[in-house]
Amino acid sequence: MSSPSSFPPGVRPETLAAGAMGFEEPVSGALVPPIAPATTYLRDPDGGYGRGRIYGRPDNPTLEPPARLLSALEGGADTLLFASGMAAATAVFQALEPGSHVVIPRVFYWGLRAWILEAGRRGLLRVESVETTDLAAVRAALRPGETRLVWLETPANPLWSVSDIAAVADLAHQAGAACCVDSTTATPVLTRPLALGADLVMHSATKYLNGHADVLAGSVTTATDDALWASIRAVHRQGGALLGPFEAWLLGRGLRTLFARVRWQCESALELAGRLAAHPRVEAVLYPGLPEDPGHALAARQMSGGFGGMLSIRVKGGQDAAMATAAAVRVWRRATSLGGVESLIEHRASIEGPTSPVPGDLLRLSTGLEAVEDLYADLAAALEASRSGTRP
Ligand SMILES: *Cc1c(COP(=O)(O)O)cnc(C)c1O
Repeated sequence: MSSPSSFPPGVRPETLAAGAMGFEEPVSGALVPPIAPATTYLRDPDGGYGRGRIYGRPDNPTLEPPARLLSALEGGADTLLFASGMAAATAVFQALEPGSHVVIPRVFYWGLRAWILEAGRRGLLRVESVETTDLAAVRAALRPGETRLVWLETPANPLWSVSDIAAVADLAHQAGAACCVDSTTATPVLTRPLALGADLVMHSATKYLNGHADVLAGSVTTATDDALWASIRAVHRQGGALLGPFEAWLLGRGLRTLFARVRWQCESALELAGRLAAHPRVEAVLYPGLPEDPGHALAARQMSGGFGGMLSIRVKGGQDAAMATAAAVRVWRRATSLGGVESLIEHRASIEGPTSPVPGDLLRLSTGLEAVEDLYADLAAALEASRSGTRP
């Protein structure tokens, strides 16, 4: 249901986000959308539902302002909000016919990778993992008329490799498949996958969209209201994996500062990447913003306004030195997740377990909003402390 807005058509994404699309509550004039906890709605005297809402699973109005804003920011036709990023991503795969052939990246968000591979083992999907940065590999993996979905994540966890959305979406379409991009780390501030030809864009809104590490949420936005979208919508409303009203309200609040947060985080990440690349204890910095990064040229074309707040470093001395570095930080927080206001450092291989494709010397860094000088000094001191290669 649309609400009145004072904004003229054509205002920019920053304006839409900061002003909650110009929301004004028609009765009170409130400028902040309300929370509606009701799970059920009155019938009309004739037994109908003339006001359009029946029950809270399909019909909670609190979800509408953030969903509409995401549709606008992504340039999509419609957005669904889910209880988590995983609920959003798995809804897309559950919407496919059983046994569908899907193409996924070799290294990407590990929780989803594990879920898809398990669905493959159980015969629910036929899964092919490829290096999606390599277009020839994607072309070879596609089975025309048989492949239903190509999944991309870019820049992809935790190596921050960059895939060519426009080229992969084109290849997928030639084979009769849809292309969905997990754009969690790029955010609509930096990349607009639908404008590049993707059919769907998914976010773990737990990360940058909410931005404060206090809400689990996910979203899927579609370019067109087609048959696949009808199927995803059915998973959402019948499967019930939707966002609760309080979480939706917090997400709406977080989205107001999205542009300011992401731009600050990009600036700090770029500075940290450059300085860490020159640090004697660092073997390599993985960040598409660095000119020497293999994904840099593509990222410079595909992303606008920055290269993201996420980077990884490979520490000299292997896994023990990496663990010792993570143990020695005092400003960075040693915790999983990403995209919040506080900077996080994380040793991925040890949380992902023995099947992880991530190197043991890698530390993933989520740049927050602290002073970049403090962030660098803290990390440099921790790297120095790791020199012995032993855990304190
Ligand atoms: C966190 C994350 C997910 C999963 O989202 P949840 O909200 O934790 O369920 C999916 N993709 C990426 C890139 C993520 O970082």
